[in-house]
This record gives sequence, structure tokens and C-alpha cells, in this order.
Amino acid sequence: MPSRRQGRSKADGSGACGGSARGWGVLAAIYPIRLKMSMAYIVLGERAVLVDTGCAGEEERILSGLRRFNVAPERVALVLHTHGHMDHAGSTRALKQRLRVPAAVHPADAGKMRIGNSAPLVPLRLSSRILSLFLDPRFPPVAPDVMVEEGYSLREFGIAATAVHTPGHTPGSISILFDDGRAIAGDLMMGGIWGGAYRRFDPGYHYYAEDLTELRRSIRKLLERGAKTIYLGHGGPLEAARVRERFEADFSGI
Ligand SMILES: [Zn+2]
Ligand SMILES: [Zn+2]
Repeated sequence: MPSRRQGRSKADGSGACGGSARGWGVLAAIYPIRLKMSMAYIVLGERAVLVDTGCAGEEERILSGLRRFNVAPERVALVLHTHGHMDHAGSTRALKQRLRVPAAVHPADAGKMRIGNSAPLVPLRLSSRILSLFLDPRFPPVAPDVMVEEGYSLREFGIAATAVHTPGHTPGSISILFDDGRAIAGDLMMGGIWGGAYRRFDPGYHYYAEDLTELRRSIRKLLERGAKTIYLGHGGPLEAARVRERFEADFSGI
């Protein structure tokens, strides 16, 4: 499948001329699929977009998630990645074959997917270093078909949402911001402790970030863009007011 790019040229609502295309696309449903380590989401508008694919070998769990939410596999138009880590792109190769749909990622994380390696996992604290001993950063390599940049619109699938580039956890991390203020932000933050096992609504830093300053800027950016309820790869969802309260002091000087 040929690679294609869609950037600001097809954007809506994010540029100076924003607003003209608002209203095209419905306020989609967000269905969470709880996986071994992470969350995947089915976004259902006129068509469906699968956001993230968990670890390797979780394709059956995702397909049964589609069945549970009554989403026919033929309705899935795209597999969209918040970033190219093993617990978010691990089953993409298998699902691309099963669903026969293109895979999309920001160009800065495309290399991780092509080689099937999440590295570098840059730890933010001691527990992250310990966790690294138990994590295998590799996953089945897969060539992405669609490059998602700032302003990429999901309206072609009848979904009123736009991609926001939110780097820091990885250089190619994106968030999907819906017109009503919901957002799916991958590993931009983590909810609670132990990967969201406890106190999942408490905002905090993820275990890893390739660039902490970029990460803080991205959290601030998502809030400034109007995110209100933020769905994550681990824990959550988080309410914007609590996110602001938790990170406000860390925004000074960035
Ligand atoms: Zn990650
Ligand atoms: Zn993750």
C-alpha cells in the first residue's frame, strides 16, 4: 500500500482558517479495550479507527473487543498509533493482515515500527530502571502506510477529531483530540501507579520519556488546545483540572 501523508493542508480547526470544516464528522464513541499491559481504543464514528494494538499476540483480544462493542471488522478503516512502542504497536502486523487496513503513525516513530524496537526507553525514575529489566522492547516489525502529522483529521472516517503532535515520551507521540474535548493521549501521562492498577484517575508521569522538557510542553499544549477528559495507554481517564493541578508547577520555565 502506498504511503500517504496528510498534514495541516487537510487540517481543520487547528489553523488560522479553522472552523470551516467543524461539524463534518460525528462525535464518535470511544470504546476501551483493556489489554495485558495497556489500553487500546475503538473510536467509532461513521467508520471505526482502532487506536493502538497492545503487545504482540493480543490481536484476538482486540478482535473480540470489536465483537463485544458490535463493531464489524469491515467498519475498521485505520489502525492509528499514539506512538511506536511494543505495548501500543505489538499486534499491528497481525491485525493489518486480519483486518486488511492501513497502519498510521507519526513519521518520527515510523522507524521504531519498521524495525520493531521501542528503544530507547529512557527512564524517568528508579522504578522505571527496574521495570526495564523485565521489558523486552522488541515487537513484530511492520511498515506503516500512513504518516500522521500535526493536524491530521479523522473526518474522512466521519469522526470529529484531529491529531495533535505531543512529543516527549517518544519523538513521534501524538494525541487524538475530539471536538468535544475528549482526547486519547497514549503515554503522554500515566494514570495512577503500577501502570494504572491503583488510583487510575491520579495524573502522573509515565515511566519513560525520551525528552522530559518536550513532554511537559506537550501536556501543556494538549490542555491549551482544550482537552477536558484524557484517555491514556495506562490508567486514566484523567480530568483536565487535575492534570493542570498536578503539572502546573512543572510548566514554569519550559
Ligand atoms: Zn510508550
Ligand atoms: Zn505504553
